Amino acid sequence: MDDYVVLRVIGQGSFGRALVVQQESSNRLFAMKEIRLPKSFSNAQNSRKEAVLLAKMRHPNVVAFKESFEADGHLYIVMEYCEEGDLMQRIKQQKGKLFPEDMILNWFTQMCLGVNHIHKKRVLHRDIKSKNVFLTQNGRVKLGDFGSARLLSSTMAFARTYVGTPYYVPPEIWENLPYNNKSDIWSLGCILYELCTLRHPFQANSWKNLILKVCQGSIRPLPSHYSYDLQYIVKQLFKRNPSQRPSATTLLCRGSLARHVQKCLPPEIIAEYGEQILDETKISCLNKTRKREREKKKKQKTCLT
Ligand code: ADP
Ligand code: MG
Repeated sequence: MDDYVVLRVIGQGSFGRALVVQQESSNRLFAMKEIRLPKSFSNAQNSRKEAVLLAKMRHPNVVAFKESFEADGHLYIVMEYCEEGDLMQRIKQQKGKLFPEDMILNWFTQMCLGVNHIHKKRVLHRDIKSKNVFLTQNGRVKLGDFGSARLLSSTMAFARTYVGTPYYVPPEIWENLPYNNKSDIWSLGCILYELCTLRHPFQANSWKNLILKVCQGSIRPLPSHYSYDLQYIVKQLFKRNPSQRPSATTLLCRGSLARHVQKCLPPEIIAEYGEQILDETKISCLNKTRKREREKKKKQKTCLT
């Protein structure tokens, strides 16, 4: 803790606070989550899961973990700071002005890449919502807040313990069925719909009516200027039956998103993560980019020798 100076509070919740801090030794800014550790050992272990799971992730579209430590009954998680804040704030800033389709697809592709990475590591996020997606100054989109995330093998008691915002909860959870990777995909669909309409897909004046709407899965169509492709993706994500929803890998391999994957991967990302992303997405079009990068590196090497 000694190495960090607190600059300001960026978020406050029941867990504690999210802060922007500056590391004295490097002058770099980081986000730091300060979590009050519960008194009981098993509850404290539960809180520690967030740091453990985040530390396992390494992807340009997942908030990068730096370190975690404990002091004075608190757990501190230090991670990369996303200067532009969360996607919910960004949507509010629009004040009703719709986003262009290209921007929506670019952000959505980046979210899919992040979700694909965590699913490949058998981790379910379980709280995907616009408030947990963060933006950086250079247009990167990062999945954050692993406070509800779990490894796929652990017991799923999500339906009973769920306390978050209900707008993103898929029908299977209301029906008391287990949470699975396709439940995260439903929530991703809610964000995509929000990006297209600036509204939640399912809204109602009571919990009962909200649950009814979610379970019926009926949504108002997107504004008509958005492409058929986009409308089609939204429809697929809101399939009532989880097994009929596409996985993140399937989404990324389809035409409309596959095209965007290349745009989301500037050379520095390809150099650092190219092989990994290719393995995770199985996108053949990335082969070409990878080949080009390899040839470029080869050329640089021969120039040096
Ligand atoms: P919780 O939802 O459990 O309260 P989060 O990790 O989502 O905790 O953090 C709360 C808020 O703090 C986020 O919605 C976001 O606005 C801000 N925040 C958290 N982490 C970061 C980060 N790495 N970069 C930028 N903002 C962040
Ligand atoms: Mg959050």
